[in-house]
Amino acid sequence: MGNAEINKSCPYVKECGACHIGERTYEEELAQKKQQVEAYVKKYCPVADMAGMYYPYHYRNKVHAVFGRIKDEVVAGTYEEGTHRIIPIKSCLIEDVQASKIIETVTDLIKSFKIWVYNEDTCRGLMRHILIRKGMSTKQIMVVLVTAGPEFPHKKNFVAKLREIHPEITTIVQNINDQNTTMVLGEKNKALYGNGYIEDVLCGLRFRISPSSFYQINSAQAQVLYKKAIQAAALTGTETVIDAYCGIGTIGMIMATKAKRVTGIELNNDAVRDAKENAKRNNIDNIRFVVGDATEYMTSMSENAEHADVLVLDPPRSGSTESFVKAAASIAPKRIVYISCNPETLGRDLEWFRKAGYRAVKAEGVDMFAFTNHTEAIVTMQRKDSR
Ligand code: SAH
Repeated sequence: MGNAEINKSCPYVKECGACHIGERTYEEELAQKKQQVEAYVKKYCPVADMAGMYYPYHYRNKVHAVFGRIKDEVVAGTYEEGTHRIIPIKSCLIEDVQASKIIETVTDLIKSFKIWVYNEDTCRGLMRHILIRKGMSTKQIMVVLVTAGPEFPHKKNFVAKLREIHPEITTIVQNINDQNTTMVLGEKNKALYGNGYIEDVLCGLRFRISPSSFYQINSAQAQVLYKKAIQAAALTGTETVIDAYCGIGTIGMIMATKAKRVTGIELNNDAVRDAKENAKRNNIDNIRFVVGDATEYMTSMSENAEHADVLVLDPPRSGSTESFVKAAASIAPKRIVYISCNPETLGRDLEWFRKAGYRAVKAEGVDMFAFTNHTEAIVTMQRKDSR
């Protein structure tokens, strides 16, 4: 298990709540995560050991901090769970190290440029959040500064100073979030420097990632996950594949090289724009992407008497829905590969799939979120009347 036996501790762990570092060894954690998958999935199929990380620290390629004031001092940190109280955090054992340094610099610049930070209670002030995304293999870094309105005093000098201190930053974006919401990002993005997105390489393909597009936060383990998903799909080159909840198209594109045709379906418009661009830059021409609801898309496929050989689904934590499962069964895939970041909703959905005529064959866990309680698993299913 590489360096995982090193025991580290964090001064913020109690208040912050984002991770549980120091509570159990990484090996214990992997065993407990396997048990967690088993609790919901064992009645459907055997569960393999979790594939753990070689070095389970500083893996987060997406880092977020909220700005606020404590006794007149500008701070960046995280909200204490369920409150508006900010816990200032200077370094984090699971987040990318460069990102933490950039957040510290931006906090200092906010002070020296005398920019007002936003106050959640009064809804006044300007600078709300910072979001950093890093392409772990390209080393490209995007800094997103979330403001409460379109104004940004001293914008040019601010950006120049930030780039001077951190020349490794490849793009800086202003995101405007004028809503009183717990969501970090608003809808409007303005590139203040660079092209407004980063790229990363996964499984040999290059992906462009916009500020709001979903991208796995652990790049190294995402490759482990996607390789397992491809093995589970057992593609021979003749299959038609549906990639439901496809995000920027990562899984579908990796599968396209081994399939006849892939269709990715995704609700988020920006993600689909990234996905289309990604297919082009990787010269993949047997994939297309649709903006829309995956259930509606599959329902209309079945109304047109279309079917798919393989379905891959990778829904959010809330899981899938019963109507999704019915629509999936109506296009009669022989194999279904379900990637889940929540064993509980996975278990619920497997019951719907079982009722719809699908048998779970195997489950495998991949640890994407070391020292947290988040667990990722892949389940392979087959239509009961197929082999
Ligand atoms: N498979 C991708 C993204 C998975 S995250 C990857 O590995 O990178 C889940 C995605 O599902 C998000 O991008 C979200 O926008 C999308 N989504 C949520 N509900 C959806 C729905 N009903 N239909 C299609 N996409 C949906």
